[in-house]
Amino acid sequence: MASYRVALLAGDGIGGEVTAQAARVLEAVGKRAGVSFEFTPGLIGGAAIDATGGPLPKQTLELCRSSQAILFGAVGGPKWDHLPQEERAERGLLAIRKDLDLYANLRPAVCFPMLVDASPLKRSVVEGTDIMVIRELTGGLYYGEPRGIEQFADGSARAVNTMVYTSREIERVARTGFEVARKRRRKLTSVDKANVLVVSTLWREVVTRVGKDYPDVTLEHLLVDNCSMALVQRPTQFDTIVTENTFGDILSDEAAILAGSMGMLASASLGDASASLGDASASLGGTVGLYEPVHGTAPDIAGQGVANPIAAILSAAMLLRYSLDRIDDADRIEGAVRRVLERGHRTRDIAEPGAKTIGTREMGDLIVDALDG
Ligand code: NAD
Repeated sequence: MASYRVALLAGDGIGGEVTAQAARVLEAVGKRAGVSFEFTPGLIGGAAIDATGGPLPKQTLELCRSSQAILFGAVGGPKWDHLPQEERAERGLLAIRKDLDLYANLRPAVCFPMLVDASPLKRSVVEGTDIMVIRELTGGLYYGEPRGIEQFADGSARAVNTMVYTSREIERVARTGFEVARKRRRKLTSVDKANVLVVSTLWREVVTRVGKDYPDVTLEHLLVDNCSMALVQRPTQFDTIVTENTFGDILSDEAAILAGSMGMLASASLGDASASLGDASASLGGTVGLYEPVHGTAPDIAGQGVANPIAAILSAAMLLRYSLDRIDDADRIEGAVRRVLERGHRTRDIAEPGAKTIGTREMGDLIVDALDG
């Protein structure tokens, strides 16, 4: 029987509550398919700071390197907010992404038909939205040097961050963008600020050049400010979006709102195996990927058993699809989530005001049951 090694990094707040349900669903789908998962827990974020003094212990990093995939919860919270930038809980996640070179962050923003009314946008605008936002994750402003604050004798200061990209970094994420678009509706929107930033000029040049290898995919370039408006005016015009780190951070959260709730949004962070996307298996396979809900630790509801586990469960489906090449099992989980929603079950975050709601564990139970139809 095949067994997959998965690092389970629950993190803080609701991270543990939602990843527990995601792991259960993986086990249940594995049982039906005759495979098993070996989950190894690792400390990360605030929990790791409390136990070891740092947000990413060496053992956790080694666990990630030796696993086939990482199922991640969320990190951070008020308890650790006072720490300096470099020691904060969130640094643990950034360090894993960098160490494993997970440069492409995939975030689907799908407006489920039965949840259209949970979106803050009008039904006529948002209905049918199905976007994949691909954000470059290991370059740009977040990591560029020089960075820092310089204090002057007169009491004033100067702060600097650097937006820097090499053509190689742009090319590899552009290829991921084209490969993903090819598996969807064959339209790729590359987002930049080429009217102002020289980094964006290079971005546009490289994406255009890579696009010549994908004549079957329609490529358009959009300025980030235009894109931000179009996302809320005409979200259905988008299929796949590829953009650099900072723009992607902001636009993917904006796209997230279209889907109604943070509790519904999955994500995958992938490294260098995009070449295999082009084959019939529709898989990025062969790379360790990190799979996590988009939301944070939700300190306001942590420990109450009311968090929506669907984002984590859909992240587990992405884990099957992209790291383990188990497309049928991924489809099975996504189908189960749809059925449970169609049957009217809702956690608090996606319920109509006054409607009956269920908790985290019950939602997990129902999705496990719905795997069989
Ligand atoms: P958040 O996503 O944790 O919460 C925002 C709002 O959405 C809250 O009202 C919360 O209750 C709700 N929400 C989030 N997930 C939900 C779920 N699964 N079910 C139901 N409701 C849900 O964002 P925040 O409040 O800005 O951040 C809280 C902490 O999480 C901060 O310390 C932040 O740094 C951290 N954070 C971590 C990550 C990560 O680990 N990747 C991402 C974002 C924020």
